Amino acid sequence: MGKSVLITGAAGFLGSHLCDRFYKEGFRVLAMDNLITGNLKNIEHLFGKENFEFYHHDVSKYVHVSGELDYILHFASPASPIDYLKIPIQTLKVGSLGTHNLLGLAKAKNARMLIASTSEVYGDPMVHPQTEEYYGNVNPVGPRGVYDEAKRFQEAMTMAYHTYHGLETRIVRIFNTYGPRMRLNDGRVLPAFIGQALRGEDLTVFGDGSQTRSFCYVDDLIEGIYRLLFSDYAYPVNIGNPDEITISQFAEEIIKLTGTNQKVVYKPLPKDDPMQRQPNTDKAREILGWEAKVSRAEGLKITYDYFKSLSKEELFTKDHNNFEGYIKK
Ligand code: UDP
Repeated sequence: MGKSVLITGAAGFLGSHLCDRFYKEGFRVLAMDNLITGNLKNIEHLFGKENFEFYHHDVSKYVHVSGELDYILHFASPASPIDYLKIPIQTLKVGSLGTHNLLGLAKAKNARMLIASTSEVYGDPMVHPQTEEYYGNVNPVGPRGVYDEAKRFQEAMTMAYHTYHGLETRIVRIFNTYGPRMRLNDGRVLPAFIGQALRGEDLTVFGDGSQTRSFCYVDDLIEGIYRLLFSDYAYPVNIGNPDEITISQFAEEIIKLTGTNQKVVYKPLPKDDPMQRQPNTDKAREILGWEAKVSRAEGLKITYDYFKSLSKEELFTKDHNNFEGYIKK
């Protein structure tokens, strides 16, 4: 039998793309999700396949997996500022307790564990672009604190298992990523703008739109994660596309792409919204021979086609989890 991988957050945006990649590479894929923010539709096509199993479970509780396990990819977490406000405690728990449970499982199974960290560990960064050596500028008690601090704790815990127990661990710091299967209503800027264009609403730019982000297409990210897992580097590696853009420019790009007649409206900037973000990807290039390949123009076109293919109902409702029948408890 091939090697087996446990992917948490498997029904989410990144988790589902990881399931596809590892399944395609011949792994036995154990997919786990509590479906708070995940959507089974993202992995529906894998149900019934011989090397794919789904477990409806919250990894903040004790995690049991029978048999051998070679790799764990911990991607369970809410990942948008609106989710942190709605489910702050779950966000803290999955990054802290969830990570601890999975590290324990990795140790018991002698599995290699990769954790999904984030550019949010740099907070509102004073160093630009952000290198892995920068320690960050995080407000622990602000709205993003529940995510940022959970992820920082997650990195510390993972490193402690690596140094104290000799566990094989990998840490990817993920910068803004986009692509098909992003949740339409999670409040992140790309689904927000495209959703607004498709519904005939104005595009909401927060603040004056001068804040920057650097958007990476999902296929590039997955390739970087795949290479990192099989590298021998245990310290954090940034994976992202360094092509930086202001949010105002981004809104203009979406208006052009979608051909909407709507305009931009300005809303207050949320608290602790980082002013600038751009990955320094020298490490990824040197250690993994990786760099982003998909341009924003190409990636946005594919992503727009995905959002266009959603039904009217999906476009207008927030309730999308109705696959209970498939779930193995
Ligand atoms: N943003 C915006 N309009 C929206 C949603 C987000 O202008 O409808 C801005 C947000 O304030 C931030 C940037 O877009 O500066 C990226 O936001 P997102 O929530 O996608 O991710 P972040 O990188 O802030 O975690």
